[in-house]
Amino acid sequence: MRVLITGAAGFLGSHLSDRFLADGHSVIGLDNFITGNPENIAHLAGNPRVEFVRHNISTYTYVAGPLDGVLHFASPASPVDYLEHPIATLKVGALGTHNALGLALAKKARFFLASTSEVYGDPLEHPQTESYWGNVNPIGPRGVYDEAKRFAEAMTMAYHRYHGMDTRIVRIFNTYGPRMRPNDGRVVSNFIVQALSNQPLTIYGDGSQTRSFCYVADEVEGIYRLFMRGDNNPTNIGNPNEFTVRQLAELVIELTRTGATIVERELPVDDPKVRQPDIRRAREMLGWEPAVSLREGVTRTIEYFRSVLAR
Ligand code: NAD
Ligand code: UDP
Repeated sequence: MRVLITGAAGFLGSHLSDRFLADGHSVIGLDNFITGNPENIAHLAGNPRVEFVRHNISTYTYVAGPLDGVLHFASPASPVDYLEHPIATLKVGALGTHNALGLALAKKARFFLASTSEVYGDPLEHPQTESYWGNVNPIGPRGVYDEAKRFAEAMTMAYHRYHGMDTRIVRIFNTYGPRMRPNDGRVVSNFIVQALSNQPLTIYGDGSQTRSFCYVADEVEGIYRLFMRGDNNPTNIGNPNEFTVRQLAELVIELTRTGATIVERELPVDDPKVRQPDIRRAREMLGWEPAVSLREGVTRTIEYFRSVLAR
């Protein structure tokens, strides 16, 4: 297969590129580096099955030659990033998704949308099944991301229904691991980098809010299987083991053996109080479930950030 991956220089896009290449496929990576890092794909330079295009997918996009798949992963993803780039985030979810869908249509390629657990907002149903419609504040600061992704899902379903296009929608739950930017602002990278730099860990609010953290290798395997043999309906991919943010902070302090302290900071507006994926669909349809525990995944991620900070 020859696939286009938008956001290929990002955290997930770069691991996903590796996953396709490992199975013998060819990858065209597309990225404008708004939140990406060229180092994430530096190891692919010179690989004859890899091409890279520096381009903004929110503008007209042409790719020469046949394509079997278009995987749309481009979007700022950390709350810090999308609050810093609100308009670019809305545009890449709306215009970028439209351009990527149009390209897939022209090439008769399968389309795959990276959506998010944020479509459930601050959820009133727990755990979240794919049939839950969500509780999102459209005009709050997070709305730029949540509503862009909700629009992207609607647009993807419209191409599926109107054009008969073969489409996939993954709702990704908090994923962490090597290649996150040290300063990307998400909780796992923040806590590890803070601990390794002898800074206090910044818990927002009282730390009782929960997230369910998935190690990147598990997430990417679920995404790959969904692309290959999933169906058109949205599918949660994430790790259902749920932790409070305070528990995560304590685990990072224990595993880094730094004796770091904790400080409380103001809770961001509309910060979801709980989040846990119901992954029955993925289990049954894809035979997939996560295998890496939080302890193991955080240990591996600490090793990664140690090497990055030592540079
Ligand atoms: P990331 O910021 O590391 O990667 C996003 C990549 O997209 C970056 O390389 C960025 O430069 C690129 N990009 C953004 N706008 C672009 C544009 N207009 N044109 C071209 N490239 C553009 O984030 P990530 O964690 O790898 O997230 C990847 C995708 O997965 C995103 O769509 C995100 O919404 C989704 N997602 C991620 C998570 C997670 O926990 N990591 C959770 C839910 C959803
Ligand atoms: N958080 C925190 N300290 C930080 C960064 C984040 O307590 O330094 C909290 C944040 O308020 C949220 C959770 O950790 O409740 C996850 O935040 P993240 O930005 O990783 O992703 P989200 O799930 O909110 O999109």
